[in-house]
Amino acid sequence: MTAVKISRDYIQTLHDRLDIEDIVSSYVSLKRTGRNLQGLCPFHNEKTPSFTVFPETKSFYCFGCQASGDIISFTMRMENLDYVEAVKSLASKAGIPLPDEGFDDSMSKLRMRILSANRDAAKYYNSQLFAPQNSEALDYFRRRGLTKQTLTHFGLGYAPPGWTGLIDHLKSLGYTEREMILADLAKRGKNNSVYDSFRNRVIFPIIDLRGNVVAFGARVTDDSKPKYINTADTPVYKKGNGVFGLNFAKNSPEKKLLLVEGYMDVIALHQAGITNAVACQGTAFTSEQANLLSRYAEELYICYDNDGAGKKATARALSVLGKTGLHIKVVQMEGGKDADEIIRTYGKERFLSLLNKSGNEIEYKLNSLLSDFNVSTDDGKAKYLTAAAEVLAACSPIDKEVYAGRLSKEFGISKEAILTQIRSSEIKARRVYSAERRKAINKAADSVFEGRNNPERKTNLKAAVAEETLIALLMRNPDFYRKLKDEFTPDDFVTQFNKRIITVLIELIEGNYSTDLSMFAQEFTPEEMDSIGNIARKGITLANTLTECRDCIKTLKSLKSGEKVDVRSMSDEEYLKAFEKMKKNRN
Ligand SMILES: [Zn+2]
Repeated sequence: MTAVKISRDYIQTLHDRLDIEDIVSSYVSLKRTGRNLQGLCPFHNEKTPSFTVFPETKSFYCFGCQASGDIISFTMRMENLDYVEAVKSLASKAGIPLPDEGFDDSMSKLRMRILSANRDAAKYYNSQLFAPQNSEALDYFRRRGLTKQTLTHFGLGYAPPGWTGLIDHLKSLGYTEREMILADLAKRGKNNSVYDSFRNRVIFPIIDLRGNVVAFGARVTDDSKPKYINTADTPVYKKGNGVFGLNFAKNSPEKKLLLVEGYMDVIALHQAGITNAVACQGTAFTSEQANLLSRYAEELYICYDNDGAGKKATARALSVLGKTGLHIKVVQMEGGKDADEIIRTYGKERFLSLLNKSGNEIEYKLNSLLSDFNVSTDDGKAKYLTAAAEVLAACSPIDKEVYAGRLSKEFGISKEAILTQIRSSEIKARRVYSAERRKAINKAADSVFEGRNNPERKTNLKAAVAEETLIALLMRNPDFYRKLKDEFTPDDFVTQFNKRIITVLIELIEGNYSTDLSMFAQEFTPEEMDSIGNIARKGITLANTLTECRDCIKTLKSLKSGEKVDVRSMSDEEYLKAFEKMKKNRN
């Protein structure tokens, strides 16, 4: 199938119509700083904003991780979409429907097939749950107090123990083995046979916000291991992105979500009428999940299990959620190990009273530290207060005052002594943080410029720098091209990646299109857009003259012909290469 591209005219119209501020701020909360906007980067974990949006060029750039790009590549990343899907989604926001013909939408067709296979699989699992021979599975849910209505509401199911029950069923509906494997509904065995991914397990379908079944969680009904298995990454699902129950919880009128640990906790709470509970798949809570939750709530209650693993998970969730701007409370589970157990043993009222008793993040942290020290001794007290000062070092000045006062009363130590301890922790923390931050910034810059997108850059440093400078100059000053077009062609470029960029750039200029980043997103991946964004930013530091352009062209031509090579400005690799070339020419 030949890929037909979406026309540049259409992309230009879309680009003109959309406001990057609107698009980005539905994911990231932005603050205006002069002509630009800043917020916390959605692509890396950070506490101080280095993610910058430039409304004039409709682009974004992160000074922390060097992520860069335009409205389209931003949407591709945030929503995990391919190019055509991202354009479609933006097109509907802009109210200019995409002419629906010809372009390559094979990926989007495959996703549709996988979603449809998932839906049929969910129906199959659900029907198996009520089959007489599988009464054990139904008993499992009944023992846990679930009504028939709840089973249906959540579309719960059962995967029977055989090897090909689902596969046979899906084949009869016309799905291919390839589609089932790509959906992770089936796996390929050693002798090329295929078998069902889930067997002898109760099934929890994971449904996204559009109502699509994107994945499954599967649990054993006895004590065998592993207790849970989940769908792996597929074209419609990324493990760290799913939130179980959000499709229901998002409709809850309060802007409040309860984050619980397991699927069963969510289901038990919903059955009890507490319909704003959600659970995140996987043990590691991700920033994607945090961002998603922050779009549907202002307040979030963490209700993780009352055990070692639950405390660890709470600490992890707090560190990721801290940057979303959500108002966070931590609920201490009392009277049972998890929400499901508390509701089943004592009922809904008991659980609601725990919510009311919950503390904010600082109270939770100070409280949970208490169990690490024996505060009845002077030594334990001193150690506790030192650890508490470390917690408070990261808080606002007002919080420091309030909690230093509380600790002072509680432990009979002067407030001044506690505040002094907080200040010294703060200085220590700042030193560690800035060293780590510097390291991260350097590493990210290296990976963008060195090799990740342009593997030839390292061994052709001088040429690559000249190419990038010329690209940056022409992106900013497309009018220069008219005067330069007889002086160079893309074939003068040495590195293939930069050659691709200049080729597209020239097409844009000759077609009188905008040279903003958005116009490149069709030909380049979001990762490649990082490099193009970084190259474009170079233009800021240049004088933007024709002379600079001509210097670059001269450098490229001389490198191509191998004449007048200036050894002093070469990298070691370039020097060796030139040396080898010279040797060859002599022989
Ligand atoms: Zn970043």
